Amino acid sequence: MFGVFPKDDLDQTLRIKRFLMAFGAYLIWSAICFIGYSLELTTVPLSILVAGVSASFILNIILYSIFRTGLNKNFKDPSLTLLQMVIATFWIMVVVYYAYEARSGVLLVYMVVLVFGFFRLRIRQFLFLSVFAFVNYSAVIFLLYKTHPEYINKNVEIFNIVVLAFILPWFAVIGGYITNLRISISNALATIERLTNNIRDVIFVLDMNLEYTYVSPSVKNLRGYEPEEVMNQLLYNSFSNSSRDTAIKTLAEMTVIEKSGHKNSVDRTLQLEVTRKDGSTVWTETKFSFVKDKNKRTVGILGVSRDITERKRAEERIQYLATHDVLTGLPNRMMFSQLLNQAIESARRHERQFAILFIDLDRFKIINDTMGHDAGDELLKDMAKRFRQSLRAVDIVGRPQERNDVVGRLGGDEFIVLIEEVSDLNQVAVVAQRVLSMAMKPMVILGEECRVTASIGISVYPTDGEDEQTLMRNADMAMYFAKEEGKNNFQFYSQNTQSQAFERLTIETNLRKALERNELYLEYQAKMDLKTRAITGVEALLRWKNPILGSVTPTQFIPVAEETGMIVSIGRWVMKTACAQNVAWQRQGLPPVSVAVNLSLRQLMDDKLLEDIKTVLDDTGMAPNLLEIEITESMVMYKPERLIEVLTKIKNIGVRLALDDFGTGYSSLAHIKQFPIDTLKVDRSFIRNLSQNSEDKAIIEAIIAMGKTLSLNVVAEGVETMAQDEFLREHICDEMQGYYFSKPVAADQFADLLRKNNTSL
Ligand code: C2E
Ligand code: MG
Ligand code: MG
Repeated sequence: MFGVFPKDDLDQTLRIKRFLMAFGAYLIWSAICFIGYSLELTTVPLSILVAGVSASFILNIILYSIFRTGLNKNFKDPSLTLLQMVIATFWIMVVVYYAYEARSGVLLVYMVVLVFGFFRLRIRQFLFLSVFAFVNYSAVIFLLYKTHPEYINKNVEIFNIVVLAFILPWFAVIGGYITNLRISISNALATIERLTNNIRDVIFVLDMNLEYTYVSPSVKNLRGYEPEEVMNQLLYNSFSNSSRDTAIKTLAEMTVIEKSGHKNSVDRTLQLEVTRKDGSTVWTETKFSFVKDKNKRTVGILGVSRDITERKRAEERIQYLATHDVLTGLPNRMMFSQLLNQAIESARRHERQFAILFIDLDRFKIINDTMGHDAGDELLKDMAKRFRQSLRAVDIVGRPQERNDVVGRLGGDEFIVLIEEVSDLNQVAVVAQRVLSMAMKPMVILGEECRVTASIGISVYPTDGEDEQTLMRNADMAMYFAKEEGKNNFQFYSQNTQSQAFERLTIETNLRKALERNELYLEYQAKMDLKTRAITGVEALLRWKNPILGSVTPTQFIPVAEETGMIVSIGRWVMKTACAQNVAWQRQGLPPVSVAVNLSLRQLMDDKLLEDIKTVLDDTGMAPNLLEIEITESMVMYKPERLIEVLTKIKNIGVRLALDDFGTGYSSLAHIKQFPIDTLKVDRSFIRNLSQNSEDKAIIEAIIAMGKTLSLNVVAEGVETMAQDEFLREHICDEMQGYYFSKPVAADQFADLLRKNNTSL
């Protein structure tokens, strides 16, 4: 629809409004003229009156169309006003001509019309209009003087002309001054409007009752509300719950300071979370300051809010990255250290104790090496989740090392747990046990099921240390102790732990050179048939004698060799030496016996193992069925499918397989059945207490029976007494190995033993 005002152009609307006001004045003037005519106050002929009124109307309508079509924007706006006023002036002068006695009244109306120009015209235009009016009026008087001198009062007219001549320039000056003032005010307002429209910051003003008195349009961007909607809201409802208290407190505090007559200006900048119309929130940095009137009285509060959501997010992200392990999302060493120090602080104050669990995954390195880092990462993530689940909400799990800052000997497979408010150490033991069983549950990685165990070292505040470093170091040492105790267990720190940890470090450094310096050698322990008393085989046991450390037992150095990966080369050497020795005995004319070699998991997961075995057999010329490979029961848990595959391949080249330390692991009969093994070696812990412990007796009986049903060769380890020997024989155990018959001995001694045994049979 063609409206009077254009909807989208405020400036144009304003101009049209002003124009219509002037048009209104025309209407009034025309009405006055007609009333004057009908009262016979003027002698203006009707034709002139109608023609004048119509002409001025038509002109004004043309002008309106110019405005409405926007053509006026090509001209200067005041020039159109000038045109309008020129027409009006001319028309008034026509009326003046006929007004006679009413001339002074008409002149007064003219003056009023001129005042309108005060607000619209510039000084030069005003001067022009004044001159125009002066000339017009003089012309009218001159014309009258010539045509109807009777209507002229000479003195009055001279007075009128003089007044016009003096007053009109004066009007022009006032008009100019007012116009300039108006222009500068409107420029200033336009600038302010432009600023508030274009600034992304939201500016708002509150009165002292904290009610909005102004909100800039940019609030629409920030909060999705129109400024008018915000004006009707309460200030505090603008903030999310987290920021409301801060805002209230700060404004109250500012007001108190301001009221106390503080000289400097009081302002505060806060980071506040603000609610949006759609329910989401944005972070703002809002500066509050007081607004004063010209008497320096505080009349309100000015607020400027800036959207800092992006910055805040980036800051939070940086903060998160700096304090968390990227892989698992657990607190990293830095954050854990902070939390630990807080725990120390609060434990000291309340005289409480707390514990640190240092968890290290056993065999993590193997997974990383054989399945790749992605698999390792997946495992760590899963473990982190499990540990978190096995703890109370107040306990903290951290991951101290990321892949990048792994220090040599350990992969990033360490976790730390902080258990606060410990009243009883049993409580800690329970948690540690829970963590161990959590770790042990099977997990599927890259489509393969595997199991991983953990070793845990525990230190307790304040007994084992009163500061971060000591507590961490001692828990770490206790963890190594747990590894040496056969892994998959937890150990509390004790004074012994310290020396052992030190030992471990020296072991590691010396072991690296042990092979090339020929410090390693083998001892051989006989296996005997319980029925025939004949030596059926021999187990090769690794020995290390170091010039500084002396004799180091396999239980001490083999875990280190496993963790560092050195076991692969050492194991290769063991196998080669043992086989070569066995062939040498045969060459000496001794009866052939089988030689058993212990393998660790690390070796079993080695791709080259099968090749290595074949090479050893080829090089030494030993019959494959004389080689027996011993794996421990605990290895069976780890990735059973893969293990079965490897073992089957070994089995297929004719090598025999034995399951060592049986009874200590968690394998079930059904589980064992899947493995292609020939021999079951019952762990010596069952044999040790045979005479006293009826439970052990029952277990041994069951194991022997089970071995028989699976057609396995059952060997008892660690037989030390005649009583044990007899018991086993009675229960038809196949073979035995132990100090009772022979300790592990040097190759020569074993040859003697074999020779003697052979002849005595
Ligand atoms: P294992 O394979 O179970 O070896 C038997 C262990 O029991 C040997 O300890 C042996 O000396 C000990 N032993 C045998 N009879 C008796 C007895 O009557 N009483 C007592 N108290 N002990 C007895 P050792 O030589 O200290 O070896 C410990 C473990 O180290 C072995 O346990 C085996 O798991 C591992 N090991 C030894 N040599 C090697 C090797 O070359 N490679 C690998 N991977 N592991 C090895
Ligand atoms: Mg063994
Ligand atoms: Mg054993």
